[in-house]
Amino acid sequence: MPVIEKSQREDGSFSCSDFHFDADRNVYVCPNGKVLPTNGRLRGDGMFAYNSRVVDCKTCPFKPQCCPTTPSRRVTRHQYEPARDVARAIAKTAAYEQTRRDRKKVEMLFAHLKRILRMGRLRLRGPAGAQFEFTMAAIAQNLRRLAKLTFHPPDPAGPRVA
Ligand code: SF4
Repeated sequence: MPVIEKSQREDGSFSCSDFHFDADRNVYVCPNGKVLPTNGRLRGDGMFAYNSRVVDCKTCPFKPQCCPTTPSRRVTRHQYEPARDVARAIAKTAAYEQTRRDRKKVEMLFAHLKRILRMGRLRLRGPAGAQFEFTMAAIAQNLRRLAKLTFHPPDPAGPRVA
């Protein structure tokens, strides 16, 4: 699944992605090269806050793009951000693109099951009933696909004579 990014800013000011995270020191480094340390307290929303120092921002040439309305800048980082970084890295690979395309095909089949074969709900009870219904539906889908692949409409001009 792609990572949902909520930290991107649309107003032209620096987003969190403009700040570099230094994992060894556990600080963010801003576009002006200043560090933003954290107090290490985990907030209720699962985030750690990293704050710049007011004295650094006061004289910074990037202040209008960074924190125009506040004396300093705060960047937040999720407690599971390393896992999100792994997911971001995977999302840039060719294998991920392939699985995205494959997933669409599978989801199309489920949509077909639900809408055309009316499997919005199961009629038989229990796991065995569900398995039976899905097996029958899969057979129906595969027969339909087979018919599409092998059926050739008759030539309107009639059979060709050599
Ligand atoms: S305003 Fe502060 S946090 Fe933003 S780039 Fe300048 S020094 Fe860094």
